[in-house]
Amino acid sequence: MNDALRKLPKVDRVLAHPRLRELALARTLVRRFVSDAIAAERERLLAATDDSEPLDTDAVAERVRARLDQLLQPHPRRVLNGTGVILHTNLGRAPLSTAAGTAVLEAIGTCDLELELDTGKRGSRLTHLRPLLAALFEAEDAHVVNNGAAALLLACTALPGRRASAGAAAIILSRGQHIEIGDSFRVADMAAAGGVPVVAVGSTNRTHLRDYEAALDRWPGAALLWAHRSNFSQAGFVTDVALADLARLARTRDVPLIADLGSGSLGAGVPIDEPTVAAYLRDGASVVTFSGDKLLGGPQAGLLAGSSAEIAVCRRHPLARALRCDKLGLAALHATAIAHARTEPDTDHAIPDLPVHRMIATQPEQLRARAQQLCDALGWSPDRIRVSQATIGGGSLPGARIDSVALVVSSNAREAAAILREAEPPLLARLHDDQLWIDLRTLEGVDNPTLVRVLDRLNPVSGA
Ligand SMILES: *Cc1c(COP(=O)(O)O)cnc(C)c1O
Repeated sequence: MNDALRKLPKVDRVLAHPRLRELALARTLVRRFVSDAIAAERERLLAATDDSEPLDTDAVAERVRARLDQLLQPHPRRVLNGTGVILHTNLGRAPLSTAAGTAVLEAIGTCDLELELDTGKRGSRLTHLRPLLAALFEAEDAHVVNNGAAALLLACTALPGRRASAGAAAIILSRGQHIEIGDSFRVADMAAAGGVPVVAVGSTNRTHLRDYEAALDRWPGAALLWAHRSNFSQAGFVTDVALADLARLARTRDVPLIADLGSGSLGAGVPIDEPTVAAYLRDGASVVTFSGDKLLGGPQAGLLAGSSAEIAVCRRHPLARALRCDKLGLAALHATAIAHARTEPDTDHAIPDLPVHRMIATQPEQLRARAQQLCDALGWSPDRIRVSQATIGGGSLPGARIDSVALVVSSNAREAAAILREAEPPLLARLHDDQLWIDLRTLEGVDNPTLVRVLDRLNPVSGA
């Protein structure tokens, strides 16, 4: 054993190896990965029960080289979404429009982010976007931060407890709306992260107006929080206070009502059962918070839409500076807002010209025709074409399904999934009942030749 440890390659010998030197990388960086590789080799030897030999210098250099090659590939990489989940958080949620991409490129260098070109004076980064968003959401005013959680945090930190006479600040939230979103994050924890405690009221299945009233008696300076059940639904012995009734209570007690909508729908091109920002505001929410990259179809961003007074308080809070949106996000968001502005309800242009909305709107017949073309090109039997169910995902319309069309691979589904993940670009499909389903609804915007080239890897003759 000690003998084997003594034979471990030396850091400097590996560092000097031509396979690592030819990368022309910073020495301190390479040294870190060489040390890690040798340490891992030492661990392996210590745990080995036989008398195995250590890797030699060449082998360790090769291992470090492979690791560095992997880390120095630009990420995230483009992948094709064949999962049927339109807003797939692991795949970057809403795919951006070409116009948004162009806007980002325009902004990468120096740009007039906080400058008024006509006067040469300092301006606000939201000068142009703010009135546009406010008008689109039918709100008095709007503000932008870097994601939906940040919008919630800002509203829940800035708005409660502003009347000193009304006692300590708090957030009042129904137990039926204590929602956990992705990656174990909880709405109540995010709301409280700025230091304002959350007071839970009601029970899991039933919360009454009197529960909120009793909480406001104890915490008269609180804000009411309403969280949209964006990823689950409740049925059975259930009572909820309607948002409009909660808004009446908030007005009577002169406290703000924050509504965390999550998805940020504008209505056009989105199934009607998803609440819109404007509807929440009409119901009487003081501020509605939501994401830019869900049903809005834009970049990661957090939006606040609501009354001028409340938005102004949020904008001036120190957290607003810590959470502000960067120039690339703002550029993409502005392009997205322009696409919504060009949507004309009750005409042929009622669907915003954005990938998410096109994916939702594609007719099943179009998908079926495309499936047929793909099968023809690939030499696949039309038996592989199946009726599928796509979902919107990304915390909107829990359980809602959109009829779709998929190509199905029945044999060696896991192996086929791995082959497609290794394609260039990689394609992600859905495993379902030991079959691999490649849903065409979410492959909007991918041209047929690319798709045929990728799927051809599943044909035996292509040697996949
Ligand atoms: C998605 C979601 C959030 C968080 O938004 P991010 O943009 O992911 O930070 C908060 N609340 C609800 C209800 C959501 O659906």
